[in-house]
Order: sequence, then C-alpha cells, then structure tokens
Amino acid sequence: MKTHFIHVLGTGTSVPEAGNGPSSYWVMVGDKSFLIDAGPGIAQEIVNNGYHLEDIHTIFLTHIHSDHCLGIPEILFGLIHREQNTHHSINICVSSGYTSFIKNGLLKVWQPWFEKYKHITYQITPLVSGREFLIDEDVIITPFNVNHHASSLGLNIKTEDSSLSFTGDTDVFDIHKVEEQKPQILFLDSSTNEPRKIPGHLTVQEAVRLIENSYIPQVYLTHFMPGEKKKIKKYLKKIGQKGASEILIARKGEKIPL
Ligand SMILES: [Zn+2]
Repeated sequence: MKTHFIHVLGTGTSVPEAGNGPSSYWVMVGDKSFLIDAGPGIAQEIVNNGYHLEDIHTIFLTHIHSDHCLGIPEILFGLIHREQNTHHSINICVSSGYTSFIKNGLLKVWQPWFEKYKHITYQITPLVSGREFLIDEDVIITPFNVNHHASSLGLNIKTEDSSLSFTGDTDVFDIHKVEEQKPQILFLDSSTNEPRKIPGHLTVQEAVRLIENSYIPQVYLTHFMPGEKKKIKKYLKKIGQKGASEILIARKGEKIPL
C-alpha cells in the first residue's frame, strides 16, 4: 500500500482570517482518507476540495482547542442527512483523558439527534504517547508528546514506504522524539514572527532553531496567526538555507504528493 498525498485544508488558527481556515490536513493512505484536526468550517472545506464526508473513517485530533475540534459536529450533521442510508462509522481519536470531553462535552447536546439516525455511528478512541495505533494493519499511527495543552499529542503516520509527522500546536519541545520516527515530512507550528510570541506556540525563530538541530528532510511551517505569514516568509528568505532540512511554508489548498 502506498501513501498518496497530504492535502492542506487550512493553515490558520482560532483567529479568523479571510481566505484561510484552521490548520487541518486530509491524508490519503491507499484507498482510505483520514483527517487530522477538524476545526470550524471543515465540513464545507472538505466538500470545496471535491471530497465527500463519507470518505472519512478516522479523525485525529491533536488536541481539544476549538480550532481543532469544532468541526466534528459539522461532519456528523452533514452525514446524517445525506441521501444514501448505508451505515457509516467514524472513529474520533483523541488523547486518553479527553474522550469524555468529546462524548459528554462537545457532542452531548446533539446526542439525541445522532442516536435517532442509526446509519451514522461514531466511536472515540483514546490515544497515548508512544502507543502505536493501527489502521488497516499497514498504516501505523504513533502519537508523541508536544508542549501545548494537556490534551496535545503530535502524530506520526507510517506506511510501508513513508513516514510523516504532525506536531499540532506546540511551544518548544523535544524534536528528537519526532526524529526517532524518521519522518520525510514534518508539519510544525510556527504561529508568529518575533518579537511577537504567543505562549504555547512557536515563533518562526524558535521553529528554525529546532529544525536546525534535526535531520528531517522537509519541514512545512503552519498554524500562522493572521498577518504573520508574510513576516515569516521574509524572515526565512533573509536567513536562507539553514541546516539540513528544507523549510517550507504550508499553503492552503496545496496537495503534497508522497
Ligand atoms: Zn490551534
């Protein structure tokens, strides 16, 4: 089985920005698609990009902040009223200790609706740092610790011939945990340009320092606060190539082949 591509659905944050949405990725693995993070507007974004909600079997949440999980009810409501009534099940994967937040917090008020429509079911799977999770036997997901919120986990996706990592939101953390997974591509938080610093997030300067000391071939910066992307680009241009990694700016709508 071959991993085909990562489609960048958004590179933003919880702060609305014209023409962008919260950071999220559509990953196509073999004949299965899954979603990494589901912020507000995601159901519409999926359809805008020519995909179907029915294609989603697994949603990974890097953490429970609104820009990463408010799209889950949108997806479930979108599936309820579709035309075909064949059974569809969605697996929502979130840090252990936060499964109840999804079930009894985020989705609780709509629970009676979801229960009425038997053709849509969802389950919530707890993720634990370092504990492998299998999709179809040949896709291995390994969560790892980052530095953002108690519910935060980065994710590594490994197939026979590829390895990709996503930090989700993070402040400075031990990037060697990621390196051990030998990803070809890493998606890394780079919310602002110094002197602006938002605790819990990396500035591009901090991101570059982390990357410089690692050997990850390609690093895509993402999760930009509105207005920061331009400054980040300018900074990267000024410093030129540093270290062994190619540092790229993730662009909404970009499809990265693997
Ligand atoms: Zn975020």
